Amino acid sequence: MCASIQDLWDYHIHSKRCGHAVGKLQEYVQQAIKIGLQEIGLSDHFPMFFLPKEANAEQFAMPRDQFAEYLEECRILQSKYSDKIQIKIASEVDYYPDPHVLSQLYSELKKYESKLDYLIGSIHIIKIDDEIPFPVDSPDIMEKFQKFGEETIFSEYYKNLIKMVKTGVFQIVGHCDLPKKYGTYFGRSDEIWDLKMKFLDEVKRTGEMAVEINHSGLYRPVKEQYPHDEMIKACIEREIPLVFGSDAHRSSYVGYQFEETLKKCINFANSLQKPLTMAKFSQKVMKREYFN
Ligand SMILES: [Zn+2]
Ligand SMILES: [Zn+2]
Repeated sequence: MCASIQDLWDYHIHSKRCGHAVGKLQEYVQQAIKIGLQEIGLSDHFPMFFLPKEANAEQFAMPRDQFAEYLEECRILQSKYSDKIQIKIASEVDYYPDPHVLSQLYSELKKYESKLDYLIGSIHIIKIDDEIPFPVDSPDIMEKFQKFGEETIFSEYYKNLIKMVKTGVFQIVGHCDLPKKYGTYFGRSDEIWDLKMKFLDEVKRTGEMAVEINHSGLYRPVKEQYPHDEMIKACIEREIPLVFGSDAHRSSYVGYQFEETLKKCINFANSLQKPLTMAKFSQKVMKREYFN
């Protein structure tokens, strides 16, 4: 099969509502139509009020009282462009494994349950020992790598991802090797590999979750997508459905490098003699599509 951009969808999109992206949601939708995507999932950051205050994360998402308005804006776009593109309504939600944090998150999510097609579960913040919780995707992470070591940071990250998968709350795992962002520490030891595989086994066990191939790493210092090729192959080997995401924070990045990645994934799947399975979601229900 000769697949192209018209066969694809971008499930990871932000907008200026989050405070660190450029452009209204409509611009992202128009860009998706322009490049020919068949579907787009709007997935701006879920308000981060529930995260530990010391992590200072609240500034990276829209205020809590604007989420309903965001959903309404998505819904209006969905009907306005229904003859040109399928629009899914979603959110990227931070996971942080603290019971108090999670109970606040879950009760907030409950209010919007029926309005969301899927949730991307992502880890941006971790905590080690008595340290103040810190982001794994800010330049300060380099200092933390020096202080705690690569093994400690990556193993904390994957242990948390495994817990996240087990909650059953999320449909897609976002950018699942994010701490490598600055291109110096990759977490590629045998011990971390084992944790990565344990994580993928958990995803597989759910039978209803997908792993995102997040393209934003391609224009970060690391210069590759999240996760790295060997993990993508491990997903295909397990027949874990994949989802492409640009993680666009400006509209020109919608669908960024998707055709190249698709070609690569089809090659991986063919050489593993497995299907390339991709996922779509409506109302939290997964539909699989096959590409080879
Ligand atoms: Zn963002
Ligand atoms: Zn993210």
